[in-house]
Amino acid sequence: MYKPLVAIVGRPNVGKSTLFNAIVKKRISIVEDIPGVTRDRIYYDAEWLNQEFTMIDTGGIEFVDSENHIFTSMRYQAELAIREADVILYVVDGKAGVQPQDEDIARILRSSGKPVILVVNKIDSVELSMNIYEFYSLGLGDPIGISAVNLMNLGDLLDEVLKHIKNVPYEEDDEETIHIALVGRPNVGKSSMTNALLGQNRVIVSNMPGTTRDSIDTHWEYEGSKFVLIDTAGMRRKGKIDIPVERYSVVRALRAVDRCDVAVLVLDGVEGVTEQDKKIAGYVHEAGKGCVIVVNKWDLVTKDSKTSQKYEEDIRRELAFLQYAPILFASALTKQRINRLADMVKFVSEQQHMRVSTSVLNELIEDAQLTNPPPAKGGKLLKIYYMTQASVQPPTFILFVNEPQLMHFSYLRFLENRLRETFGFEGTPIRLILRGKK
Ligand code: GDP
Ligand code: GDP
Repeated sequence: MYKPLVAIVGRPNVGKSTLFNAIVKKRISIVEDIPGVTRDRIYYDAEWLNQEFTMIDTGGIEFVDSENHIFTSMRYQAELAIREADVILYVVDGKAGVQPQDEDIARILRSSGKPVILVVNKIDSVELSMNIYEFYSLGLGDPIGISAVNLMNLGDLLDEVLKHIKNVPYEEDDEETIHIALVGRPNVGKSSMTNALLGQNRVIVSNMPGTTRDSIDTHWEYEGSKFVLIDTAGMRRKGKIDIPVERYSVVRALRAVDRCDVAVLVLDGVEGVTEQDKKIAGYVHEAGKGCVIVVNKWDLVTKDSKTSQKYEEDIRRELAFLQYAPILFASALTKQRINRLADMVKFVSEQQHMRVSTSVLNELIEDAQLTNPPPAKGGKLLKIYYMTQASVQPPTFILFVNEPQLMHFSYLRFLENRLRETFGFEGTPIRLILRGKK
């Protein structure tokens, strides 16, 4: 599944994050309520008229220079949006009028060839609607006046977005082929691992252009299974200007994650789990994708009999929401254990597709309620009538209960653990959805 990417670009204070928040509809999902994952996020899945897309507020993208200083740059943000996004919303301030910097960015966007929608924000009333005309001078076509604060004209804006998204090449879901994305921050060894993985006596079937203009997906077969390795390294790119390393490298990672079945989260064995790793891992989890964690550069780690166990504990603590993901200690350089990666990915893919019958689930639910009674609130006890599996990839279960508000997070966690102890579901998130009595 490929979701089109819509990027918001503009000067500080024009109202980008206000618009972003107005557009995205927060997905309510109790099992995703994990502290630390969703903080200061700059991307979100949104929906308009049944069309799904991912939104990213480039104002929140930070870069790192050669001395490891973190900075933001509108110009780099715009370049990144041009490289990665399918549609760009260029937001300007209708109260402030055209600013010199607006013209600089407009020039970059104009020559990009990407669809750009010029959004004049802060048009809070009809009287202010005349303010949009001066923005014709930016040469980006008809401006759309909106008020992000008053939610005015957002429908028209989203209709316009949809017109452009409709032209984004649609990627057909190929049920049989397992799509893999190697994700991780810069320098953990993604490209080296790609080469190691593909170099291991596998037949490369073909190289097809990826969805991003300059990326190449590799199709290969291994022991009767078909795989596609989504190009995340983006080594081949040649931008107009050289963009420094993005602090979290989320933009390319999230695109690849959206398209994959199983994400291979590559960590640096020497550096351990960092904040950047957590961001990318959080996205993999929230997207409902399968996950295998690879601790790379294992050749550089001084080991004794306890080292891998201690490493595993660290990872389980730092990436607590990914308890279910198997861990592989490997080296792209020496090829140690790289031969096991494809098998692990295949295994996780099978786990994602596992179906459990309603009768077996109900036995589990009955048993679970006996050993650990459901929570109560104000003298009222939660009753779980029955449970059924609604879908796979990720396995999603619907619990029919008397009153959903009686459910407690810890009880959901308990049920999830029960499901995992009984059936495995290794490497895949599980979703539990509550339904009350009609
Ligand atoms: P960003 O830096 O581009 O993300 O801008 P913000 O979304 O943080 O908004 C900057 C300021 O502009 C805040 O004080 C917002 O309340 C205000 N603002 C945002 N949208 C509108 C709008 O439609 N009308 C008015 N009057 N103010 C707005
Ligand atoms: P990417 O940015 O994630 O694609 O990382 P690269 O594949 O470009 O690797 C970054 C650096 O780490 C390069 O100098 C690699 O040679 C080195 N590297 C990658 N994997 C390993 C490994 O398993 N062991 C060691 N010692 N070095 C590695």
